[in-house]
Amino acid sequence: MKKILSLVLALAMLLCATPVMAETSYTGTADSQIGGVGAVTVTVTLADDGSIAAVTVDECKDTPGICELPCAEIPAAMVALNSINVDTVSGATLTSMAIMNAVKTALENGGVDTTALMEKKEVVVEKADDETLECDVVVIGAGGAGLAAAITAEQNGANVIVVEKMPKVGGNTILAGGAVNAVEDRSEFAIKQNDSVYWHYTQTLSGGDYQGDPELVMTLVENAYDGIQWTKELGMEWLGEEAVFTVSGGLWPRAWKPVMVAGTGFFDTYTKYIDAHPETMSLMLNTKAEEILVDENGAACGIVATGETGNTITINAKSVVVATGGFAKNVKLRMAYDAIWGMLDEKVLSTNHEGATGDGVKMLQALHADFIQMGNIQLLPLGDPKTGSLSGNIEHGVDSRIFVNKSGLRYGDEGGRRDDMTRDLFAQEDAYMWIVMDSDTYPTGDELNNFGETANQLVEAGRAVKADSLEELATLMNVDAENLKATIAEYNEYCIGGSKEGQADQFGRTLFGAPIDNAPFYAGARVPTVHHTMGGVRIDTLCRVYNENGEIIENLYAAGEVTGGIHGTNRLGGNALTDTVVFGRIAGESAALCK
Ligand code: ADP
Repeated sequence: MKKILSLVLALAMLLCATPVMAETSYTGTADSQIGGVGAVTVTVTLADDGSIAAVTVDECKDTPGICELPCAEIPAAMVALNSINVDTVSGATLTSMAIMNAVKTALENGGVDTTALMEKKEVVVEKADDETLECDVVVIGAGGAGLAAAITAEQNGANVIVVEKMPKVGGNTILAGGAVNAVEDRSEFAIKQNDSVYWHYTQTLSGGDYQGDPELVMTLVENAYDGIQWTKELGMEWLGEEAVFTVSGGLWPRAWKPVMVAGTGFFDTYTKYIDAHPETMSLMLNTKAEEILVDENGAACGIVATGETGNTITINAKSVVVATGGFAKNVKLRMAYDAIWGMLDEKVLSTNHEGATGDGVKMLQALHADFIQMGNIQLLPLGDPKTGSLSGNIEHGVDSRIFVNKSGLRYGDEGGRRDDMTRDLFAQEDAYMWIVMDSDTYPTGDELNNFGETANQLVEAGRAVKADSLEELATLMNVDAENLKATIAEYNEYCIGGSKEGQADQFGRTLFGAPIDNAPFYAGARVPTVHHTMGGVRIDTLCRVYNENGEIIENLYAAGEVTGGIHGTNRLGGNALTDTVVFGRIAGESAALCK
């Protein structure tokens, strides 16, 4: 990337030095599959000799946390290489392709012959020298857990290096809806919500069929609220109590929401902290850890990684934190381990980023680390039908929406556990459902969902439908109108003000908000999607990693989705980000303080 940037700079200087030439600009759009029709809009400017003078992405409707990097890098590469056929950005393939398609469309619509510009130019990358670095703590993975660990280690006096294999920070955490379960015990708000740390503990444990380790679960819930306070001290902004909600599968209204969309607020905060501490922290992107080094006593003492240019980077450290996330994007691994679903082949999509391939599992296996509950894989009933991603989901919280199948009928408890909701969905025709809600959530349609998209944008992109009547909505959904009307009328009886208010319905649902009776109505289609691998390496409450003989592997710590034993068979919605903050901080502190 540095080379491309210097090429761009050189080109810019060259352009400044030459007399101004006539330039022509063209604008075009393309579908990225994620964002729907017209998801990416670009302007491309050609010099009078036909070479590419500038490319700008005017609009990108794709997921925040994914779109930023390709929007910067693809245009830069196009100008530098004078080609509209450049390498995609790792982790953002669809958006990269959409930008290239939009540029091609713009030029072709303007009558430009793109044959020469479509020629793929090989970027010759010179391999940098191998190097050896020293630090106190090396962290593998710059997702939620890794960066919480890195910052906490630094706050405890350590010199820290973070390696991240992707070209950007964030992992899955940045793509999450942003909900963070936490209870401030005995606070007025908790009392009003009928909630407590102990109730969070009980629901987490029972929601995972008591497979979660009680001590780890207690550690999670007891430190959750402090975790949010810690992010606030770092400068992260959160919405207030009025925004606390029940996230899907969260079972209770205890999910706090950051001000910034999805998981982006965490990384805005974490990277600012890292940038502000250059003496003690460094973040190496495009750097993939391959191996954890151990000394003659079997204690972790560093890592070996592959750098951006294919060079070998050895990092010697006093301790190592593994925060590599899960393996939902590794079809082989998830099929080998899955003990719940029995068919997690490539046909089942995933919400995860491309880097969720279980590298940590492989590296830790080489050290004979102990793994627990690897068969526990969480699916959500909330995937985009084309990509499996969480974005594009019109729902806000559990109380205000229902799920209906292709016949226009409700079929289960939409306020239940994530595994139950997904099992119910698999039993429906084509494992396909619509989320239906009304204008209580979207008074104008310009309000944002949990992923920074407005309902109207989703409708415009063909990812949701909107209608003034239920009949019309049924037509757009291609479901039976009488069924839809009857199912909503019946549901409304259980809602606030309904004749059966306060009762559980025939599916056992107890979480009801206002009735669905306020036009216009909205519906968005969803399918099952692989979301979170809940099994992983065995840790204790200090995030120390254990081997197969039940012994501690000295100086080795793990946090986040790579660990197992917290969430059991089924993770409560809203507990994953809590997990990254709570156990990330503990791992960082343990790693900094170890001798
Ligand atoms: P968690 O929620 O546990 O923090 P995330 O998915 O948010 O998990 O973050 C895990 C991060 O680890 C991702 O950014 C991923 O790209 C990174 N990662 C995975 N394997 C490696 C590896 N071998 N080397 C460096 N980074 C890795």
